[in-house]
Amino acid sequence: MIEKHQFYINGAWVDAQEGRKHNVINPATEDPCAQITLGGRADVDAAVAAAKAAFPAWMATPVADRIAAVERLLAAYVERAEDMSQAISMEMGAPIDMARGQQTPSGDYHIKNFIRAAKAFEFERPLGSHAPDTRIIHEAVGVCALITPWNWPMNQVTLKVAAAAIAGCTMVLKPSEESPLNAMIFAEIMDAAGFPAGVFNLINGDGAVTGDALTSHPDVDMISFTGSTRAGILISQNAAKSLKKVHLELGGKGANIIFDDADEKAVKRGVLHMMNNTGQSCNAPSRMLVQRSIYDKAVEEAAAVAGSITVGMPDQQGRHIGPVVNELQYNKIQGLIEKGIEEGARLVAGGPGRPEGFNRGFFVRPTVFADVNNDMTIAREEIFGPVLSIIPFEDEAEAIAIANDTPYGLTNYVQSQDGARRNRLARVLRSGMVEMNGQSRGAGAPFGGMKQSGHGREGGIWGIEDFLEVKAVSGWDVDQA
Ligand code: NAD
Repeated sequence: MIEKHQFYINGAWVDAQEGRKHNVINPATEDPCAQITLGGRADVDAAVAAAKAAFPAWMATPVADRIAAVERLLAAYVERAEDMSQAISMEMGAPIDMARGQQTPSGDYHIKNFIRAAKAFEFERPLGSHAPDTRIIHEAVGVCALITPWNWPMNQVTLKVAAAAIAGCTMVLKPSEESPLNAMIFAEIMDAAGFPAGVFNLINGDGAVTGDALTSHPDVDMISFTGSTRAGILISQNAAKSLKKVHLELGGKGANIIFDDADEKAVKRGVLHMMNNTGQSCNAPSRMLVQRSIYDKAVEEAAAVAGSITVGMPDQQGRHIGPVVNELQYNKIQGLIEKGIEEGARLVAGGPGRPEGFNRGFFVRPTVFADVNNDMTIAREEIFGPVLSIIPFEDEAEAIAIANDTPYGLTNYVQSQDGARRNRLARVLRSGMVEMNGQSRGAGAPFGGMKQSGHGREGGIWGIEDFLEVKAVSGWDVDQA
């Protein structure tokens, strides 16, 4: 078994001061695959102190040099891609081809987009020609606590670390205790990229002790958090005590509105998108809203597509889906499937229990419910597993009402050949993102939500700006540098 007990603090791997041992479980076998140490308050203090000490010099480092450091990070990251994919696959269950093709590359994609955005951004500029001696300076927020989940681990880590580094912030990363190994490889990558000691620090730990110590620490200026709405609320309460800046990327319950003029691949695309990463994506289109006139055909097709999805071991090559991350999630998903049946939704694919051929591992059957109404538990709660709810609607107004009737607001989806209708919908859907006709957002587009999906944006220039303060200076000498 892999033993990884140290933390990366102030440019070196150091022993934990107050450790509690923690087994990382391989979700496909239910066996421990690694043991780490969960840090305590003293470890958090050491990591924050290192970040605080490194802050003045890093903030004062010219932005071109900070971008150059992130370019070295990109090169080092790409070199370790295979190690990264293996770690992600083992600890959170992503099938190896999916880890290689989607999980790991999401990291270099974001880093590249940050580099491009930063090169085009004016960190300092005059207010305008009417006031040339008023200078606007974008300046690093300070010491940042970065807390990430297990579901798209490198996607989340790179969105935070690369943006914070370019902005001139120093940081302490606490990855999910469910998937710490990829983040420890990332710390090795940061080390190889040659960041000054203390700019980036990594500490492992859980939410209740380590996360709590970090988010209540007086020397932390900002918290950037991705995870559950539950933890987002606790973190905001901690942050409020000293008015730390808080960035939150939380859950979702996206509607995928399929009109009767949708393209012929719309239903299939929606089901496959839902099941990708075994349904463990905050932006999963988990409520499929289908116009009544094509409803029966769509339900039949969705059931057939779900039935054709294979479930398999993460270390096997191929396009199957893997297990969900842990026993807690497995039980939660099973409970919600039972609840869907109990509340009267019509099960058309999958169902309770493990898929055929599995008696071990946190494997879930790709499941589709039809005849769901938006008040049912499976339409309201984020399931975070391969479970799709199909809801019928009559017309555009009803589709909008159902889509917006949720506490979440991360991503909604629209499928229609009618461009005017698509644009209308894009304006009224209450979510940080609207994805239409399967077209992905352009490189560097902002990612983030409204309502209980959080606030703040990650990716591209918006992601960097989140780590910057805006300073207005009057009396600037325009003849000086
Ligand atoms: P989680 O909230 O349980 O844990 C996320 C991270 O927060 C972990 O590192 C955990 O240790 C830490 N944490 C937990 N409680 C904490 C506390 N009280 N104080 C400080 N830190 C704490 O979530 P999870 O189960 O790991 O991830 C799944 C959730 O993340 C889902 O709800 C999903 O929708 C959400 N998510 C959102 C986005 C997005 O960008 N909106 C992206 C990925 C995942």
